[in-house]
Amino acid sequence: MAAQIIDGKALAAKVRDEVAVDVAELGHVGLTTVLVGDDPASDVYIRGKQKAAQSVGIDARDVRLPADTPEDELLALLADLNADDSVDGILVQLPLPSQIDEPKAIEAVDPAKDVDGFHPINAGRLYLGRPGLVPGTPLGVMRMLEEYGIEIEGARAVVVGRSSIVGKPMAHLLLQANATVTVCHSRTQDLERHTLDADILVAAIGRLHLIGADMVKAGATVIDVGMNRTDEGLFGDVDPGAMDRAAYMTPVPGGVGPMTIAMVLRNTVTAARARRARIVANPAN
Ligand code: NAP
Repeated sequence: MAAQIIDGKALAAKVRDEVAVDVAELGHVGLTTVLVGDDPASDVYIRGKQKAAQSVGIDARDVRLPADTPEDELLALLADLNADDSVDGILVQLPLPSQIDEPKAIEAVDPAKDVDGFHPINAGRLYLGRPGLVPGTPLGVMRMLEEYGIEIEGARAVVVGRSSIVGKPMAHLLLQANATVTVCHSRTQDLERHTLDADILVAAIGRLHLIGADMVKAGATVIDVGMNRTDEGLFGDVDPGAMDRAAYMTPVPGGVGPMTIAMVLRNTVTAARARRARIVANPAN
């Protein structure tokens, strides 16, 4: 029997509707995106985020800086945005041009406004299981699992990929939800031995159809984070033939991708709420 499709597009629309209600309740929520340079792919991402933010009533500001912007200028801008009370969330589009130290820029964003969840303080909070801002992609995957009623507690979860923006936070979230988690990567030997054991398989690799259909356990839930652009279109890391073995599976496109931006909007509301609560509790802040 073919797998049930996990419809990321529909779920992302639902999340946006929920966020729109929260934004209306809060009155004003501000998000500033910062793009340095004119990389066409980054431009597309920024426009997507701006459009999505505006669609839910977030006051979205689109700051563009020239490609040769010196590091200290970007850091000064981020300091201004950190101090600006009308800004709840800050998104610095990566990659940054080579004259700018990326970790330094990430660390220059106030962790309370870090709606990408990339700041080491937020990564540390996730590691410790404490509340913080979590990267949108793994957060979106957790929402998909929850929405489709997929049992995580006690499940064997295998995450292929260990990047700081997907694989590692994904593994932590699954662990927090009481899965038994295995993380695989490019040096993993006999990858199939691990994937075949997975009740929940998350592929975040960036290699076209690296996970073959016969590497998927019958009845598994397969989450394909991969986005591989080819002349024939956009494809995932998992062979679509796995649909015949899995119980649930995300498509590419229309799976995890739409959820990422929706969860960044959700994070912006979370950041806005947390900052307001802090200001009420301590008016001197
Ligand atoms: P990344 O930083 O390049 O990490 C890729 C990971 O895959 C690394 O941990 C790497 O292992 C591992 N890997 C590479 N070849 C492997 C192999 N043959 N066997 C097992 N593991 C292997 O990529 P990323 O940023 O995490 O993104 C992963 C994919 O997700 C990309 O296609 C990206 O476009 C996509 N993505 C999608 C969304 C979305 O919204 N849908 C968001 C973010 C990313 P090592 O650590 O050993 O090198």
